[in-house]
Amino acid sequence: MKVFLKSEDLKKLLEQFAGAGKLFAPVKKGGYSGWARVSSIDEVVLSGAQAVLQGEEVNTRKPAKVFVFPQSEVMFEFDGERAVEVTEVPEVVVFGLRPCDGRAMAFLERFFVENKPEDPLVRERREKATLIGVACNSPAESCFCTAVGGGPHEGKGLDVLLREVNGGFVGEAVTEKGEKVLAGFPAPSKEAEVEAEKRRQEAEGKMALRIDLKRLKEVLDKGFNSPVWERLTLECVNCGACTFLCPTCHCFDITDETVRGKKKRSRVWDSCQFTLYSQHASGHNPRLNPAGRYRNRVMDKFKYTVDMVGELSCVGCGRCVRVCPAGIDIRVAVAEILEGV
Ligand code: SF4
Ligand code: SF4
Repeated sequence: MKVFLKSEDLKKLLEQFAGAGKLFAPVKKGGYSGWARVSSIDEVVLSGAQAVLQGEEVNTRKPAKVFVFPQSEVMFEFDGERAVEVTEVPEVVVFGLRPCDGRAMAFLERFFVENKPEDPLVRERREKATLIGVACNSPAESCFCTAVGGGPHEGKGLDVLLREVNGGFVGEAVTEKGEKVLAGFPAPSKEAEVEAEKRRQEAEGKMALRIDLKRLKEVLDKGFNSPVWERLTLECVNCGACTFLCPTCHCFDITDETVRGKKKRSRVWDSCQFTLYSQHASGHNPRLNPAGRYRNRVMDKFKYTVDMVGELSCVGCGRCVRVCPAGIDIRVAVAEILEGV
């Protein structure tokens, strides 16, 4: 189902969600853009290639995965005899996520929900979230979604994809939930569809990187003991920023605590780039050096999750490229691995 929304129609639609207190969108936060509950649409600008984000970056600093897999959450409380569910999952509408984050949502659903036993919290959060993505007409220099099977106008993992054209947006319902959001809007004109297609081709044309994913997997299958890992991680400072901002990283730690007699179990994001992540209770640590930890990260993105659930877990969003304080670039790493493992 395809429709056309004039810019003012989209604004009215979003105002309805904002009025109900359900709308989250990227807003300017200092020098970058980040997610916030939006009460006024004026906080979200609706025209211009990067304007939905109001920031300098083409995408939000934190990924949209926070809406299905928050950085920390209480899993349940314990009343002395049994676990009691306490986390109330609200209905939310997320506007302005980019197609790479949509693809990451599809990965997280595959990993946490379809890959049994399912994670009930991730499933419920995804069921109660309506994801309205906006296609990218101006990819950032660090973007490489097309090299890992995605694209700047792709709808995978979203409920609605909006593609900006003159005067408004061509809207495409990806799911039944998306059809409900777009019900009542007119079909797009032929010209609008042609323009959207032209913009897709232009955006894809700006991303030159190509990765031979089949060969990369074959090389990684044999590359566990390669010297390339030492070389790639000489500069790594083990901050974990790459994993914390990655839209598909899915590791968490579980803690039990008692506060004023109340017992609860929580989970928080964890990072395979931290030394303690892989330390055994005995004290032995199989990944004591940065090379072993970085190898795990790259292997996870391009090999382990492919073996496990049949999907790459890098969507090419480029966040790790942009935030790494040591300048480690996963695109360069992949090129070196293909040459040197
Ligand atoms: S590994 Fe980097 S580029 Fe790939 S999805 Fe994660 S943050 Fe984005
Ligand atoms: S990686 Fe692709 S989808 Fe993601 S922000 Fe860049 S151009 Fe858009």
